[in-house]
Amino acid sequence: MPHITLLAEQARAVQVRNIFCIGRNYAAHIAELGNRPEEDPVVFIKPTSALHLPGTPIVLPTHSSDVHYEAELVLLVGQGGKNIAEDKALKHIAGYGLGLDLTARDLQTKAKQGGLPWAVAKGFDCAATVSQFVPSEHIEHPQNIEFQMHLNGQLKQHGDVRKMLFPIPFIVRYLSQVFTLREGDLIFTGTPEGVGPLKGGDVVRLVLPNAIDTEFKVE
Ligand code: ZN
Repeated sequence: MPHITLLAEQARAVQVRNIFCIGRNYAAHIAELGNRPEEDPVVFIKPTSALHLPGTPIVLPTHSSDVHYEAELVLLVGQGGKNIAEDKALKHIAGYGLGLDLTARDLQTKAKQGGLPWAVAKGFDCAATVSQFVPSEHIEHPQNIEFQMHLNGQLKQHGDVRKMLFPIPFIVRYLSQVFTLREGDLIFTGTPEGVGPLKGGDVVRLVLPNAIDTEFKVE
């Protein structure tokens, strides 16, 4: 099973379990893809084989000719639970990281048209690329987190959790009503506007100010 590193005074390896993803969580991104906001969050799951960590390049899949980056805040679940109340939700988050919900947009568009699942569009190797994680105690105001994604030195995405349609405590409560959350689960919280294609030779940089600054090369 893959492990991620929780950066602390002493780095701690955490075994990754389920990878949950929230879709359509920022109004401007919903608009750029021509979707409509949902009453409940869109939830999908990636296999752990899709997990990709810093240190080696992102390898683009061969079964798609239009792979998009989607930069997202990623939660690392600490203490698990079922039916977690919103006012207790943040206590269940052990760390915060940034990630790329890589999406084969051509296959996803086809799947959406056919009303079919997204596994091959969002579950391939490297499709869950993540930075290292910082422990929650290092994030003073999780309700104010902002992050950036740069492509080849150009700012492409700016995320601000205050613009989420479904805020973090809502997401934790909602997911934990359906799934038992366990230590090591990751939750991708949705992408802001500015998504676009990746190609070989690109360099992606994910920044959470004063906490994370990670670069990935694309092969
Ligand atoms: Zn996404």
